[in-house]
Amino acid sequence: MSAPADDRYSRQARFAPLGEAGQARLAAARVAILGCGAVGGAAAVPLARAGVGHLRLIDRDLPERSNLPRQLLFDEADVAAGLPKAVAAARQLGRINSAITLEPVVADLTAANAERLLAGVDLIIDGTDNLEARYLANEVACRTKTPWVHGGAVGGEGRVLTVIPGRTACLRCLVPEPPPPGTLPTCETAGIIGPAAMVVGAVQAAEAIKLIAGRAEATAGRMLACDLWAGEWRSLDLAGLAAEGCPTCRGGDYPWLEGRLGGQASPLCGREAVQVTAAGNAGPVDLAALATRLAGLAAVTVNPWMLRAEVEPGIRLSIFSDGRAIVEGTRDEARGRTIVARYL
Ligand SMILES: [Zn+2]
Repeated sequence: MSAPADDRYSRQARFAPLGEAGQARLAAARVAILGCGAVGGAAAVPLARAGVGHLRLIDRDLPERSNLPRQLLFDEADVAAGLPKAVAAARQLGRINSAITLEPVVADLTAANAERLLAGVDLIIDGTDNLEARYLANEVACRTKTPWVHGGAVGGEGRVLTVIPGRTACLRCLVPEPPPPGTLPTCETAGIIGPAAMVVGAVQAAEAIKLIAGRAEATAGRMLACDLWAGEWRSLDLAGLAAEGCPTCRGGDYPWLEGRLGGQASPLCGREAVQVTAAGNAGPVDLAALATRLAGLAAVTVNPWMLRAEVEPGIRLSIFSDGRAIVEGTRDEARGRTIVARYL
């Protein structure tokens, strides 16, 4: 007697534009999700459930209580445990689908590592909250001819742009010059409602499924924008921009990857915290040795990815194995650097 056939994916394979062939392509696909917060998590859940065979989960941060209203991959226990978001996300997605490969990467995307972290995938999903990471992803995508799905949400609004290098407009076509820091609304200044991020992640996942299934014609050339509070949905035709192209997608100009733009400290959206890479210490850190040295501090916790301690009342220091540190309790970068230099 043979075992009953697994009908796990039978309903989505029955959807004619996908079919069994599309399902097989999903199983063979490798997708990088850049940022595992509200938008990235909302994209990751449907992709894991749909049976995308390999998800690389890239995130630099830790879950905190103010994430819980909108970040689907984390719960109160994750906040208490202090696991990096990428690791907590992989655990949660593994409970949803144990048959797929989940690859957590605890790192900040920079010009130095962007090509390596985004290598070897069929598709990139933008779940990040910072502009530099988006431009880096756009340039890697254009250079390697990898499709990527840009998405963002703030307030009650969201937008999604699917970029197929060589065929559609890219991020630089749409936004040629990054706006000066502090001029765009952020989750911190404008707030955000969870459903805005969830809509964006869901649309990104649908775009990803079309691309992986070889149905790119169903996506190309449009940007979707929605305002959930006003109940408005718009679809913008970017064919004109695509025909013209820009120095990146047409001319092979990669200013962010080559370090001509960017490289400043990127603020952690919505957090009383700064990220610091200690000077001369951008390499791996021996966390076990550090834990021994810092054993006298309050509330020291250590796991394979990071060490966290309360170094002063109200100041919590998290040191990652890649040499980055996040200092919570201040937004003053100079103070953050001083604190890191004292303990690292
Ligand atoms: Zn372009």
